Amino acid sequence: MSATENLVDFETALQTYDPVLGFEVHVELNTKTKMFSSAPNAFGDAPNTNVNEVDLGLPGVLPVVNKTAVESAIMIGLALNCQIAEKCGFARKNYFYPDTPKNFQTSQYDDPIAFDGFLDVELEDGEVFRVEIERAHMEEDAGKLTHMGGAAGRIQGADFSLVDYNRAGVPLIEIVTKPIVGAGTRAPEVAKAYVAAIREIVRNLGVSDARMERGNVRCDANVSLMRKDAEAFGTRTETKNVNSLRAVDHAVRFEISRQAGLLDAGESIIQETRHWHEDTRTTTSGRPKSDADDYRYFPEPDLVPIVTTAEWIEELRSRLPEPPAERRKRLKADWGYSDAEFRDVVNAGLLEAIEETIAAGATAAVARKWWMGEISRLAKNAEVEPTELGVTSATIIELNALIEAQKINDKIARQVLEYVIAGEGAPAEIVEKRGLAVVNDDSALGAAIDDAMAQMPDVVEKIKGGKLQAVGALIGPVMKATRGQADAGRVREIVLEKLGVDG
Ligand code: ADP
Ligand code: MG
Repeated sequence: MSATENLVDFETALQTYDPVLGFEVHVELNTKTKMFSSAPNAFGDAPNTNVNEVDLGLPGVLPVVNKTAVESAIMIGLALNCQIAEKCGFARKNYFYPDTPKNFQTSQYDDPIAFDGFLDVELEDGEVFRVEIERAHMEEDAGKLTHMGGAAGRIQGADFSLVDYNRAGVPLIEIVTKPIVGAGTRAPEVAKAYVAAIREIVRNLGVSDARMERGNVRCDANVSLMRKDAEAFGTRTETKNVNSLRAVDHAVRFEISRQAGLLDAGESIIQETRHWHEDTRTTTSGRPKSDADDYRYFPEPDLVPIVTTAEWIEELRSRLPEPPAERRKRLKADWGYSDAEFRDVVNAGLLEAIEETIAAGATAAVARKWWMGEISRLAKNAEVEPTELGVTSATIIELNALIEAQKINDKIARQVLEYVIAGEGAPAEIVEKRGLAVVNDDSALGAAIDDAMAQMPDVVEKIKGGKLQAVGALIGPVMKATRGQADAGRVREIVLEKLGVDG
């Protein structure tokens, strides 16, 4: 592990070198059935229950292409501003490994369904960085191996391995970028923003569940360094399965530091795959990988080519939802939030929640106040997401209506919210049951005020003498007597009225 001993500080590394990045992102589609068979595409079922003879490559069976998967692929291509191939086919990528019982993966080779696109990703400060897309092609996932008895679930040292073919044949779209140059010190941020943008697009299209923790979106990160005065790219490494946004950021950062250490020492970079280790935030060597790895690709003889007509493509284009970046721009303008307010909402992951609350009838200011304020605070204390507290748009609207009708004040509203979260019911119901309504009834207030004045004759004299701010001294005892439910403004009015002083 000499590599990790010579790490060069990230900022220092980027004074000498420019990073070049490339991403291969695999997106699992959420079709009902698999890419080439009628077996269910479902997560979490008992091992080897969602498998049929096509997935197992039994003799004499024929695959059939899943039309919905092709449509999803085209929609992803269109969302990534790609050209769509008029005609494309499948190929066999041959390799022997127990995760693929057919001994080949059905994929696309030199004629991907979508190619030559781009994606504009927004960085945290609002700057836009364009990532060019090389291709998006269709393929099938492999089965899942679980290695038993070894350390950290690895095959090395394992006693035996279990194989689950439920995932074999699940439709995948692999999206490959062109080399990304010019990111400089923002390379980790660009990497993270790119993967986040892909995840947002496929989720928004509804073609994938897009849950990284379930492997619905998986990322291989290619990184190389070139001296600032060099003309050709350096040798890349491909870090496999960096499967969270944070890991994407860290893996790119680590590879830059590691490769700079080797290059500074006059060593060369080996073109290889690398394993990502979440615990140590480091990568270790995987297998050597040349650009000409020979998978003996050949055209899949059992599948006819796919022909995409212009009408079909246009029909699919008409189904595309508003692109996420445009949607954000529109919402920001509609809601009238400042740049900082809007960015905070996006970074808190509360865009949808706030949009829903506004759609249900709240003003943009009220929706933001509750979601970004008290709900976020309570969520942080409970260590959950704000949307997981069970607060609905209806709760917020009802709470706000109670405040506007002056039934409760802001402070009591926050208490009521806690009771709602605790499952006591709807806000109005809780206010009623717990007797939390502000005391506006002048006779009850009047009695409390009379008591307070009787106990503080000196204060009363001061007020009569024109020192109106002395009223403040009476408010405390009145609040106490009404258990905080008196309206301070109203108390002041009544005191002045009783003493015949002009406010
Ligand atoms: P492979 O079959 O090796 O996985 P792909 O073409 O599928 O190759 O993906 C390689 C990825 O690496 C692409 O995103 C490509 O743009 C990127 N890439 C190519 N050369 C370099 C380089 N020198 N440095 C960083 N990334 C690179
Ligand atoms: Mg690849």
